[in-house]
Amino acid sequence: MHRQRCTRIIATLGPSSSDAATIKKLSDAGADVFRLNMSHGSHSSIGQIYAAIREVENATGRTIGILADLQGPKLRVGKFDGDKVTLARGQGFVLDMDDTPGDRNRVCLPHPEIYQAVEKGTDLLLDDGKIRLEIIEVSDDKITTRVTVGGVISNRKGVNVPNAILPLAALTEKDKKDLDFVLDLGVDWVGLSFVQRPEDVQEARDIIGDSAAVMAKLEKPAALYALDEIIALSDAVMVARGDMGVELPMEEVPAQQKKIIRHARRAGKPVVVATQMLESMITSPVPTRAEVSDVANAVFDGTDAIMLSAESAAGDYPVEAVSYMDRIARRVEQEPSYRKAQSKVESHPEPTTADALSAAAKQVAKTLDAAVIVTYTSSGSTALRAARERPRTPLLVLTPNQNTARRLSLVWGLNCVHTKDATNFQDMIDKACQICIKYKFAVKNDRIIITAGMPFGSPGKTNVLRIARIKNYHKE
Ligand code: PEP
Repeated sequence: MHRQRCTRIIATLGPSSSDAATIKKLSDAGADVFRLNMSHGSHSSIGQIYAAIREVENATGRTIGILADLQGPKLRVGKFDGDKVTLARGQGFVLDMDDTPGDRNRVCLPHPEIYQAVEKGTDLLLDDGKIRLEIIEVSDDKITTRVTVGGVISNRKGVNVPNAILPLAALTEKDKKDLDFVLDLGVDWVGLSFVQRPEDVQEARDIIGDSAAVMAKLEKPAALYALDEIIALSDAVMVARGDMGVELPMEEVPAQQKKIIRHARRAGKPVVVATQMLESMITSPVPTRAEVSDVANAVFDGTDAIMLSAESAAGDYPVEAVSYMDRIARRVEQEPSYRKAQSKVESHPEPTTADALSAAAKQVAKTLDAAVIVTYTSSGSTALRAARERPRTPLLVLTPNQNTARRLSLVWGLNCVHTKDATNFQDMIDKACQICIKYKFAVKNDRIIITAGMPFGSPGKTNVLRIARIKNYHKE
């Protein structure tokens, strides 16, 4: 169960990878978390994939996290007569509320909110920014534009409005139905698409409660203006480079990626880098040098997790894509400059016993050359603090709460074991030593560092740091 790397891998599942046999191969190759993309697939197919993942988790004994990524308020044009049209640069083009099929002069844009939010001069981007329209005139139900970049546009393609905060609800009716469904299934993380404001995250949190952790996808410029507030309200964030590269000039994306990682790490919140990481592997068994560098750079930046989208969901080489990510991350993490860079991040420990003991555990483990830091946690918050310290010593998390173990599976460096809580101080030491031996984190005579909360079984009370030595009698 001990991965030979700290950076975690998220693999999106889809037509290439939704059966239990392939999911097992992906997990064996290094996938720690599986992503269900709610933009595709029916509830019954998503339910089957969920069951297949849990089947693999049972069979392998390896804790697996599941992220359900909601579609969010993605704007789309309607359909075209003949399914597609070609727009030429310089021509006029109208978007309106008439739901009859469009042609090369007009198409339906069935989102009344947009008509209020845009103005003359605003750019509308269609189909991931491939087509660009400049607004000439707007009324309550009609936007007249001029095509500034032309091309072929087909049914239901996406529309981006980069420079406006749209008065759209954070969760659409579809999202709410999907959310009910995935929370009933028991997913560990919910991804929120097109977050614009901190209130969008709060609205989702109010519905989700403690049933799942919340990951805000950062892709809208407006969200980047409120970055720290959004990070504070979220359990994790994703650098969603796909839509970000449409909403912002593409050359902005690398700088934003680094900034988001820096801010999230400072706040002690996990961060995921996503989209087009190994894009060419959709059709090729090997990545390009540039893709290998991109994955490596995200790891060097200290991201918690790297993500595959179409590569694992719909590509020809899903398992190979996970294997490449695994190899690249392991290689980067062996580099001395990687470890040096990790320990440089200035975190701001809060004045809590958990923060103080996590920082102390890192230092004590280094001084004593301990084999492992063992953290007892119920909610997972002490484990997050331990990971924020980015210690060189491996981290082993013991939790009586299986949901906590699953949620933590996307966090840098955390190796989680679901086990009963300790009953007394000696049991705390014995259990930690036994599990260290069982999962090969330590051998006889190794020193281990343990943090825990007493009285046992009461969450949020980390107040003990114990140094122990592995003895023979700890063997099961
Ligand atoms: C993205 O835009 O990068 C992303 C991860 O979101 P989606 O795949 O839902 O478009």
